[in-house]
Amino acid sequence: MHPEIQKLLRLQEVDAEIHMIEDEVRRYPVLRKARRDEVERVRHKLDQAQARRKDLELHIRESERSVASLREDLVRFQTQQSRVKNQKEYEALEHEVTQALENISAEDEKGLEFLEKEELLDREIADLSENFDLRQQECDDETARLDGREQEKARLLKRLQDERARIADSVDAAVLPRYERLKAQFPGNCVVPIRDGNCGGCFIHILPRILQEIQSSGKLSQCDSCKRFLYAD
Ligand SMILES: [Zn+2]
Repeated sequence: MHPEIQKLLRLQEVDAEIHMIEDEVRRYPVLRKARRDEVERVRHKLDQAQARRKDLELHIRESERSVASLREDLVRFQTQQSRVKNQKEYEALEHEVTQALENISAEDEKGLEFLEKEELLDREIADLSENFDLRQQECDDETARLDGREQEKARLLKRLQDERARIADSVDAAVLPRYERLKAQFPGNCVVPIRDGNCGGCFIHILPRILQEIQSSGKLSQCDSCKRFLYAD
């Protein structure tokens, strides 16, 4: 095998490894963001539930104030009623007393509904809180794991890039630019074996004369059609 082909094959191998690692490293920020988004989604739900809880508390306080005021009215009507002298005034106050009692009863019912809602909401908030803590923990763990892997890959990448520079330096100065151009066109597949007399890249038949040259003299050849570097398998 032509010595340049051996170097180019190693270069192609290292380039493929570099490409794979760069691809993987590019995914890390996306994976980290997906975890953070999940935490944010649960946090948002929790915030909304807590806002509804606050709103409900306002309604409960309002209802309590309303009941207190109705009870004061009731006591006032009842006191007035005990002091009136004529039947007409008594009946008018009797009507007020009945109305106040009905209003109190309606407010009490509303109060019970509020308490039920409060209980449900408290349970929802507790569940969301627990879920939030869990997601946050998962996010922290995953982020730490990805950070670790990223550092590991960065070290590996540095080693491979150094190795690539060494190999590229050793490749014939006239051949290297050809390799770089072909690499851009056929990533990971620009130095190919001849298979059954065909180019391993574009599968076109190789002329017997060229085949003979490669096999006997180990000449550095390129496919006539796709220009990939060829070697005898
Ligand atoms: Zn070809």
